[in-house]
Amino acid sequence: MNVGYVGLGNMGGALARRLQLAHPLRVYDLDQHAVARMVEAGATACASLGEVARACDIIFLCLPKSEHVRAAVFDPDGLAGALRPGALLVDQTTGDPKVTRQLAHLLAARGVALIDAPVSGGAAGAKAGTISIMLGAGEAERARIAPLLTAISPNVFHAGDVGAGQVMKLVNNMISGAQRLLSMEGLALAAKSGVDPSRALEILVAGGARNAYLDKQAPSILRGQLEVGFTLGLMAKDMRLACEFGADSGVPQFFASVAHEVYKLCISQIGADAQVTAAAQVIDRLAGSHVVGSIHR
Ligand code: NAD
Repeated sequence: MNVGYVGLGNMGGALARRLQLAHPLRVYDLDQHAVARMVEAGATACASLGEVARACDIIFLCLPKSEHVRAAVFDPDGLAGALRPGALLVDQTTGDPKVTRQLAHLLAARGVALIDAPVSGGAAGAKAGTISIMLGAGEAERARIAPLLTAISPNVFHAGDVGAGQVMKLVNNMISGAQRLLSMEGLALAAKSGVDPSRALEILVAGGARNAYLDKQAPSILRGQLEVGFTLGLMAKDMRLACEFGADSGVPQFFASVAHEVYKLCISQIGADAQVTAAAQVIDRLAGSHVVGSIHR
């Protein structure tokens, strides 16, 4: 069985690296530096999507948006024209469940399955082999992909049929994305009111406000370290998708809508390529507080 990985950025690169420990990979990315890093880790480079499709039975994709997945599959020089009959595509992009289901439907007509397996836990979680994988797949594909997914991480959660992994990933990021902004505001309020941010953080993680952002990222932010390998642009995309999905489903999105607006504001201030954690700098600026880097002051 030959396995391919397409999309070797911050997340895809970390997932592919982890998978490569258990199974040899053929890899492809538009960015040659990303390919070279994977070749160094033992993978075989492919020169085109067609080459990946001709060589592989199972192909993972981790691209910025579902639109990139659609293009990588169905553009004239994409995967679809060269896929082996019975091939399986595993989409690890955080994407739009509607598009995922549509692509799966179109590929099924060609005898190819597409399932979704987006992740939560960042590149660090992928590297440590602890990342959470949300699987949307029917029973046959679930059994077929289980050994490879568990090689990435044992934390594989079957959410339901195709698209259900994307649904859960959007729900996850809608909650975590809003929660991180509220946590930033809370720390700004404490700091502006004269409480040392480190002390405020210590108190919050011991109380009912505790969350993954306060636990894992806020300590680095207080030290002025903002690099997490996840951009504001990707976070805003997830919020937008969650809000659209909520609107389509008739579910209110009060908090997610506000959070989406705040991420758009942050992007207007510091750009989509800034780290998601840099939103704390924007909140500091708006609040007149000094949370980011406060440990060194
Ligand atoms: P990234 O921008 O770092 O990487 C994307 C990669 O895709 C780039 O290397 C780019 O060259 C490549 N690419 C784009 N179009 C391509 C194509 N047609 N063919 C081949 N390669 C192509 O993004 P990322 O942070 O790795 O995120 C990827 C996905 O994972 C996104 O949907 C994101 O929301 C999700 N995600 C990211 C994180 C994280 O911590 N970074 C966490 C969970 C989920």
